[in-house]
Amino acid sequence: MMDVEVIEKYRKAGKILAEVRTEAVKKVKPGVPLLEVAEFVEALIKERGGVPAFPCNISRNDEAAHSTPSANDATVFDEDMVKLDIGVHVDGYIADTAITVDLSENPELVKASEAALKNAIEIVHAGTSTAEIGDVIEKTINEFDYKPVANLTGHGLDRYVQHAAPSIPNRHVEQGVILKAGDVIAIEPFATNGAGHVHESGTAEIYRVERLKPVRLPAARQLLKEIEKYKMLPFAKRWLHHARLDFTLNKLEAMGILRSYPVLREDSGGLISQAEHTVIVEEGGCQIISR
Ligand code: MN
Ligand code: MN
Repeated sequence: MMDVEVIEKYRKAGKILAEVRTEAVKKVKPGVPLLEVAEFVEALIKERGGVPAFPCNISRNDEAAHSTPSANDATVFDEDMVKLDIGVHVDGYIADTAITVDLSENPELVKASEAALKNAIEIVHAGTSTAEIGDVIEKTINEFDYKPVANLTGHGLDRYVQHAAPSIPNRHVEQGVILKAGDVIAIEPFATNGAGHVHESGTAEIYRVERLKPVRLPAARQLLKEIEKYKMLPFAKRWLHHARLDFTLNKLEAMGILRSYPVLREDSGGLISQAEHTVIVEEGGCQIISR
């Protein structure tokens, strides 16, 4: 069973997250810079006593995930389908949530991912197979005449690890994993009017330490020192202040120390909606910590 103090840390992270999400949604309007919203979210998390578990992701339209503003980004919201994906950790215990703010007048697509998340959460308890969750999500989204994004999944959460086992499928899979009491999982259905598949596209604004090893280059050592506080969690390029930043990031990536996360886009350019909550699995059900 899970330690009471650990549960309290998850609940605290989830409470901060839910408050920040509510405030963030109010900011998303045509003409507002994305950077303003991302910085607002990350500052409010800290103000409330949490730490951003990853950069505030603001993905629009055919972007599914991994989009966050660059340091001098001047992009503003238009009539977009906006996904805010936000994470908070307290002492490494992470709550992860996403919500779609629709400025594009496609309410049914938003309802599809929200209904899929709701139906999935209803079947979660100790003993549920992740395959059953995938089936419920796919079936629900199909009822709205949309497709789930087949190659994106939810995930387990561990201390300082955002994407731990098991993966939580958004579609039918042959083999699932049986959930146990105390498992912490993020369920995150993505619905689309496109092909139902995403690919990496363009340059990355988000990085993560993949494998630490000794480096000789002074600039690389200095940058590693700066990012060591993020442990294995994702961080944004705009969070770093370093001379020759791109050069050094590329060098560390080529050495296998860093991994970059380019934006994920829908293959056929379809619109994507997303909904996500983090839950703690219990014997008879689950506790939604990000509500
Ligand atoms: Mn998320
Ligand atoms: Mn997630």
